[in-house]
Amino acid sequence: MIPFSGNPLDRASEKRTDAAWLAAKRSDSSSLILPMWKLNPFLLGPENAKGPLEAGFLRPGLAEKLVGPDACCVLLGLEKGNALFALDVSAAPDPASQGPLAGLGHFREMRSAAMSGGLPEKDIAILGQAKAMLDWHRRHGFCANCGAATALADAGYRRRCEACNTDHFPRTDPVVIMLATHTDPELGDACLVGRGKQFPRGMFSALAGFVEPGETIEEAVRRELMEEAGVKTGKVSYYATQPWPFPSSLMIGCFAEAENRDIVVDQNELAEAFWLEKSKARALIAGERTDGLFVPPAVAIAHHLIKAWAEG
Ligand SMILES: [Zn+2]
Repeated sequence: MIPFSGNPLDRASEKRTDAAWLAAKRSDSSSLILPMWKLNPFLLGPENAKGPLEAGFLRPGLAEKLVGPDACCVLLGLEKGNALFALDVSAAPDPASQGPLAGLGHFREMRSAAMSGGLPEKDIAILGQAKAMLDWHRRHGFCANCGAATALADAGYRRRCEACNTDHFPRTDPVVIMLATHTDPELGDACLVGRGKQFPRGMFSALAGFVEPGETIEEAVRRELMEEAGVKTGKVSYYATQPWPFPSSLMIGCFAEAENRDIVVDQNELAEAFWLEKSKARALIAGERTDGLFVPPAVAIAHHLIKAWAEG
């Protein structure tokens, strides 16, 4: 499964406006609270422990002691009828080493938690949802329309500006990530990979970019490939999507059929780009460092796109 997908929670959107139900669930002993500190989720156990990791879902009454009643709290959903909330405890100075959580666990950066390989897939998806939601609240304390302070509503799925009577909703930004492919009777199959300027040395990936207003997914795929690598593509096909909580994107994985192998790299976007042969792609996905090259880890949808094509 692609990391951050497969969230098992019933989002219970019909309950979000029921203040009495929410208040009861916040203190119900069957409910669970995930504390997040500076957008890092709480994990049980020591930081350097080997082996499987466990998400820090706690019974009510523990993490709440760290912050005031106005701390941002979001309903993530229901699992077998039990409510799960995310609570922002960033106001506490060092909650992993002092106070009610001391000795129970640690806070870990979201990307590193997902990449550790120790967390169950469903928990990575839930932690990603929590990260994206709390991140949105942290950045939307003021109304984009009039500048007044906004207040959390609907269990975290709305922010309300009373000054200008406007509602704001959590956003998800669509990003296309695409693997251009080309089949040639003599050269064989190849896919286009590029190295972003910020990438670690040797790492190559599928190209990506934000979908712009007034644009379809297919149009965004063709535009980005043309802009970044000068590659002209025809047919675009959908592969899969991935919620990507950095801060709130939806990665839309696609394949695009290139018309030829001409490349004109936009030096502002990419350090370099080239056509990668299928056999080499298969070796890189298997973890071999052919010619010092490597592809993104399995936490990224790019890895799955390259893998699906190379092994398909
Ligand atoms: Zn306003």
